[in-house]
Amino acid sequence: MIVSEYILVAIFGLIIGSFLNVCIYRIPKKLSIVLPRSFCPKCKTAIKSWENIPIISYIILRGKCSNCKESISIRYPLVEAITAIMFLLIWHNLWFDLSIYRMLMNLFFVSVLIVVTFIDIDYLLIHDKITYPVIIIGIVLQAMYNSLGQTVLGFFIGGGIIYLFILLGKLFYGQDGMGGGDVKLGALIGVYLGWKMTLLSIFLACIVGSVISGILILLKKKKSDYIAFGPFMSLGAIISLLFGKRILDWYLYYRW
Ligand SMILES: [Zn+2]
Repeated sequence: MIVSEYILVAIFGLIIGSFLNVCIYRIPKKLSIVLPRSFCPKCKTAIKSWENIPIISYIILRGKCSNCKESISIRYPLVEAITAIMFLLIWHNLWFDLSIYRMLMNLFFVSVLIVVTFIDIDYLLIHDKITYPVIIIGIVLQAMYNSLGQTVLGFFIGGGIIYLFILLGKLFYGQDGMGGGDVKLGALIGVYLGWKMTLLSIFLACIVGSVISGILILLKKKKSDYIAFGPFMSLGAIISLLFGKRILDWYLYYRW
């Protein structure tokens, strides 16, 4: 373990996290994610370079726009921190069983999940313009470096199970808690993780989702009857990606 490498990975994660914030803010508003420079949503003043340093600027500015003093959401530094932590964990896993290629793919996959999660929390929507290209990139990468058959299997099992959930929800409750975006997210996870880890992801998503929904209902914190399932699927996928192998080994070992 080389400490300087971990520091570099953390800095890289913070920078990517800062870009993910831009994606989360701009993609649902149909704005370009490249131009123009970031600006304050209230007074529209362009954010200066020194004000754009992940986490550090937020602390120096005490969470307020330097021009109009409008408070900046805590979510910006939070997304940056989450991204950096994910990157560190994926980098750490490299030492166990990953190739560099697989690691880069995982970094990309987790970044996409972070963007999907925060947009889904805000808008209850998973955008096709994110899922479609990411699925295609995943299939091409897997076909080049892995098994195309496994990838296609993951695609259909991931998407299929969520589709089945929707059908069953309609049948028993007369309503659909999930949407087509969730089916595409299931397929996307299937492409990147393969069918086994996708099953684990969805299983974990259901457990965490029921617990959190239960707590929200008890606290009466729920704004509507609908809770986005995408964030739970993303969380399940990230846990499976990082610890899935150990979870499955443990399960298979103690099952008897
Ligand atoms: Zn401002």
